[in-house]
Amino acid sequence: MSMPLSTPVAERELEVRNPATGERVGSVPIASPADVEAAVARARAAQTQWANQSVTERAALLRRYHDLVLDRSDDILDTIQKESGKARRDALLDVLSVAGTARYYAVRGKRFLAGHRGRAAAFGITSARVVYKPFGVVGIISPWNFPFLLAIGDALPALLAGNAVVLKPSELTPLSAELGRRLLLECGLDADLFQVVQGRGEVGSELIRHVDYIGFTGGTATGRKVALAASERLIPFSLELGGKNPMIVLDGAPVEKAAMGLIAGGYNNTGQTCIAIERVYVQDSVYEPFVKAAAARIKGLKLGYSSGFDLDMGSLISEAHAAKVSGHIDDAVAKGAEVLAGGHRRSDLGPAFVEPTLLAGVTPSMKMFKDETFGPVVAVYRVRDADEAVRLANDSDYGLNASVWGGDGRVVREVSRRLETGSTGINSTLVIYHSFDVPMGGVKASGLGRRHGRHGILRYTQEQSIVRSTTV
Ligand code: NAD
Repeated sequence: MSMPLSTPVAERELEVRNPATGERVGSVPIASPADVEAAVARARAAQTQWANQSVTERAALLRRYHDLVLDRSDDILDTIQKESGKARRDALLDVLSVAGTARYYAVRGKRFLAGHRGRAAAFGITSARVVYKPFGVVGIISPWNFPFLLAIGDALPALLAGNAVVLKPSELTPLSAELGRRLLLECGLDADLFQVVQGRGEVGSELIRHVDYIGFTGGTATGRKVALAASERLIPFSLELGGKNPMIVLDGAPVEKAAMGLIAGGYNNTGQTCIAIERVYVQDSVYEPFVKAAAARIKGLKLGYSSGFDLDMGSLISEAHAAKVSGHIDDAVAKGAEVLAGGHRRSDLGPAFVEPTLLAGVTPSMKMFKDETFGPVVAVYRVRDADEAVRLANDSDYGLNASVWGGDGRVVREVSRRLETGSTGINSTLVIYHSFDVPMGGVKASGLGRRHGRHGILRYTQEQSIVRSTTV
């Protein structure tokens, strides 16, 4: 039997390249299974003392983090841009949203965590109280599309609730997470209370084997695996997954404003946003003016890579993802879709650029009809009335976010409530992400659980009921 001359060497580091230029911008070591286990053990040892501090003391750290993130925004923007290739204005959303989350929970967290009295079983002779206790070590697994926000933003309420956090960021964007950690330590956090383990999916799987709660953000297929692994250990988890988000434009809608809403909702972050609009259902009466206004604005978007705020849209995350996104366009066009704006891959700008694209005539035989494209590609459909719009909008496996525009406020509100989504924006598209006081998450294949608001911090705690007989 012939032996191989050498056995394959396990991958030891992740090399990071700027997808806009192909340039190598850094590397990080990959954590071994033993490294992951040791990180969780250190976090567990440090967590008890952290949980014993008052919420006010822990909240002070979040206040300092808010200030530091804003002070260092230039460094953070540079880091996000160099590993994601996105436009600087899109990277700014990462920064502002992390600062906003820190501030929101620093101010509100104490009230959410305070616990409350319950109704006694027998009035006068028993009492009841609910307290919220941290799980211990929270694992967070994050994607690449908002590499600073989705790595750090969900960790902040977990820390405030008294947990330690071990984070596994996307293998495509490890640097923003490392920077986010350095800034937390600069604010005075014990290094063991927030650790980062780097690597691909296997490192995420390993993390689930050790932590007490798993907060996952990523694709639906991976989310199903995470749910199975967490269920095997009977640990609680939350899943923030994909979307195929609809926008509905009805009679009397302000078409220019709705077209601007589509630009924000569909093309922000190069369309790589879980809550991005990918389908628009437009009522007959406003279809022509809406499509004209939207196409004109899409054609006016400035595409490229720049470290200034001068461009509207940057690169996609990788050549492979650009191939998937342009594959959706090519497949639709080959099967008869009409290109109203864009439609091309732009290899002249870099390895992973695709034009902002608007298509009409998309049919069920085309890949982009039901599958999440996760790029700057939107399909527009003409509908008879609100009922048809609602039926088509709900005809999806996903249920994350939606947007409704129209002239009759009563109809718009009613349509919003009929949509099978975790959130709906009226006369807006992406505002839900910055509405920190209300829960955000998905239904159907878009996930389980919610971030933000009261629920966004209590999910990292276990409720304990303490009932007492007052006669003794
Ligand atoms: P992905 O599912 O490929 O990866 C997400 C993370 O999971 C990465 O860190 C990856 O390394 C890790 N991972 C992969 N396999 C794993 C496994 N078996 N066990 C544990 N971890 C594993 O997703 P992506 O391509 O990084 O991100 C894009 C997707 O994320 C899109 O579908 C998008 O809609 C979704 N997303 C959802 C939200 C939301 O809030 N709902 C936000 C952002 C992105």
